[in-house]
Amino acid sequence: MAKEGLTAFAAVNRYFEEAAGLVHLDDALYAVLTSTYREISVQIPVRLDDGRLIVARGYRVQHNGARGPYKGGIRYHPTANLEEVRALSALMTWKTALLGLPFGGAKGGIEVDPTGMSTGELQRMTKRFTSAIAHILGVYRDIPAPDMNTNAQTMAWMMDAYSAVHGYSPAIVTGKPLDLGGAPGREAATGRGVVYVLEAYAAQHGMDLAGLRLAIQGFGNVGSWVAREAVARGAVVVAVSDVAGGVRHDKGVDVDRLVAVAAAGGRVPETDQPGVDKISNDELLEAECDVLVPAALGEVIDGDNAARVRASVVVEAANYPVTPAGDKVLGDRGIPVVPDILANAGGVTGSYFEWTQNIQQFTWKEDRFNDELRDRLRAAYQATAATAAELGCTLRQAAFAIGIRKVAEADRLRGYV
Ligand code: NAD
Repeated sequence: MAKEGLTAFAAVNRYFEEAAGLVHLDDALYAVLTSTYREISVQIPVRLDDGRLIVARGYRVQHNGARGPYKGGIRYHPTANLEEVRALSALMTWKTALLGLPFGGAKGGIEVDPTGMSTGELQRMTKRFTSAIAHILGVYRDIPAPDMNTNAQTMAWMMDAYSAVHGYSPAIVTGKPLDLGGAPGREAATGRGVVYVLEAYAAQHGMDLAGLRLAIQGFGNVGSWVAREAVARGAVVVAVSDVAGGVRHDKGVDVDRLVAVAAAGGRVPETDQPGVDKISNDELLEAECDVLVPAALGEVIDGDNAARVRASVVVEAANYPVTPAGDKVLGDRGIPVVPDILANAGGVTGSYFEWTQNIQQFTWKEDRFNDELRDRLRAAYQATAATAAELGCTLRQAAFAIGIRKVAEADRLRGYV
């Protein structure tokens, strides 16, 4: 990803710099925190079912580990190049610090289009990738999780490849299937967390979720759970999309029907709900609504289309969906942005709960998981809003400022710098 002359990593560092200035960060730490600790790039030969061999490229980037083991998802996507993975690893550092989780930041990816790959091909690719990066993983070193185009099954394969060498190690990955040490609540945690953060935002602004109109881009793990949880609280999802395009209905799209379509392998535009209009992804981002929730790719709102956003607030469920130029346009227009490192932090917070349960070999009930999730996200929102008021800055700058202070202090206390 590179847009408006900035690579994704440069753009995340632009956000970092804005906040670092506000907290008067030491120059020496500046250089440490705008670069990554370790990056590996590996070759992944995969034998396809028809006998052909493809060679994919995989990455794992560890950004900062001062506060705990590296933590971050693995995505399979044609744009998952080193620069994008760097950017996403840095976001994980600021996210885990903002939430006060005992983790650092990392991210991984395979630069591949997994669409159309068979289960066997995906399994072989995942296990080869895991073996290639296993020397930098560990229950107290680096713990992957799912992200775009990866899921609980992918994590089960990763756990198996790692455990084959190191012995039974469920805590080596999070987002696992329940039968392999996954935590009830983790699958929904990112999307549910987005709604908890939205609730906290609404409460601060004297609003109620009931009746709020949402437009959601992306109907995978995150987008579909945002839709379900929002509707359960009386909100109305007026537009939704996936890679194939979107649908809109002013009275609300039928989320249950869309979930059923997706579960059967169908795409959002294939829903047969009467009265829905078909829309493109560009139209979704410009749909009339109260809350715009990008929950798919990065860089979808930029300096151009930000001028046409018709929401009252943007809640970043995806990672890095708004470029710095887009952020400025939204800010100038008075449209607040709830930043990714806060809005989608339910995923890594849920992963933290899963990891601790694996280590303790003690399982929580889902109610406890959801209660803890809600409390931590609400507290993180309130701390961010208070810091924004204290520093006179945006929610994004405040969220980064909180994270930067914590990581800088950990680096200093450990004598890293
Ligand atoms: P997913 O693979 O389950 O779903 C992705 C969705 O995006 C699908 O509906 C897909 O059709 C859609 N999509 C793909 N390309 C698109 C395009 N060009 N235009 C519109 N839609 C497109 O992935 P996910 O886990 O739901 O992740 C979505 C976003 O949330 C990513 O940015 C990811 O980094 C972020 N995120 C995920 C988690 C998690 O726990 N899964 C946690 C934090 C952040």
